[in-house]
Amino acid sequence: MRQPDFTLTAGPTMASPRVLSALGSPIIFDYDPVFLDRFRETERLLAEVYQTQNDVVLMQGEAVLGLEAAARGLVQTGTRCLNLVSGVYASWFGDWLRKFGAEVYEVRVPYDEALDPAGVQRALDEHGPIEVVSVVHSETPSGVENPLGEIGFVAHAHGALMLADVVSSLGGTELLVDDWHIDVAVAGPQKCLAGPPGMSLIAVSPRAWEAVEANPAAPRSSFLSLLDWKLRWIEGGRTAFPYTPSVADVGGVHAALSEALEESLQTTISCHARAARACRAGVRALGLELWPRSESYAANCVTAVRAPSAVSVPEVLSHVRERYGVQLSGGYGELKDKLLRLGHMGPASRSLYPLVAVSALGRGLADLGVSVDIGAGAQAVMDALAEATAAPLEQSLT
Ligand SMILES: *Cc1c(COP(=O)(O)O)cnc(C)c1O
Repeated sequence: MRQPDFTLTAGPTMASPRVLSALGSPIIFDYDPVFLDRFRETERLLAEVYQTQNDVVLMQGEAVLGLEAAARGLVQTGTRCLNLVSGVYASWFGDWLRKFGAEVYEVRVPYDEALDPAGVQRALDEHGPIEVVSVVHSETPSGVENPLGEIGFVAHAHGALMLADVVSSLGGTELLVDDWHIDVAVAGPQKCLAGPPGMSLIAVSPRAWEAVEANPAAPRSSFLSLLDWKLRWIEGGRTAFPYTPSVADVGGVHAALSEALEESLQTTISCHARAARACRAGVRALGLELWPRSESYAANCVTAVRAPSAVSVPEVLSHVRERYGVQLSGGYGELKDKLLRLGHMGPASRSLYPLVAVSALGRGLADLGVSVDIGAGAQAVMDALAEATAAPLEQSLT
């Protein structure tokens, strides 16, 4: 089978030529001065994208590794956690917390809604004192973004540590780790940064380090250990790794972060917001229904669409992939057969990719007998793109 011509998925997503060429650059010794410099520079760029003064840790392994490392680092038997669930990833995270022995309370909202900070406050009042609050910023499986800043403020005022899965929000939406009191943030490069799916990008506050150091159950001398990175790499003067990082992946992440910052982080984020608005307008004009109940909390990284009942999700995906060379995403986890998702991350947030995504979805559904207005969909995408592009990007963010 041919490779897809367009990968407009919920991640991993298309990487830019610059990222691809960095991934293909020579594999050098990890203690070569050139690699050491690149690694340290990658940390600096990551801290800039995270807008943090906290330590950052680049672990070798897809974001799930970083999430597990963070959970195990902060939790021991009896740790009182409040897990905020508005989607699939947060629900899975709660399973981990329970498995690692935590006493877990939950706030749950339907997966087509965002969390309400007032509800978080009520839960903290009711179940407190809580040591760790965990949340997913952008629930990629359902295309819903939670108000992380407000939640961070509430958690911090309570005295809890805030652990945030920002895998699909970093680089695609506003994220202020320090201002929002995020003690541990975990991201991956393969979503809005459009890098390789092979690393965990973590920010750790001084308070979080203290908690991990004081936790006898935190992994030590382990691939899952955040502490190993602190002791060997950070406190060792950034000259000794706990294990060999992938030289190629680090090159790819370095290029991806550089690109996200090049025009300004604000511009990169605005671009994601614009693509998301255009896709939502297009989907509605096709005559389809968005999954999030309100556009006010629809995510910048993917647009989730309720699948019409007349078709099956796998059938639509394989038809669009085979006939038009466009790879879209279906649902994930509990939402697997309910949703079709259009990704607009990294390069896919630029130019006319939203038009490709909406047209492929519309034409594909029409081929399968669903009544959609393809012309109106395409028109709505282009109107949204033209309108946003006419205004300076910086201003269109809010
Ligand atoms: C992609 C993603 C992850 C990483 O999970 P994978 O299923 O391994 O890709 C974690 N959290 C969120 C919110 C994500 O979007």
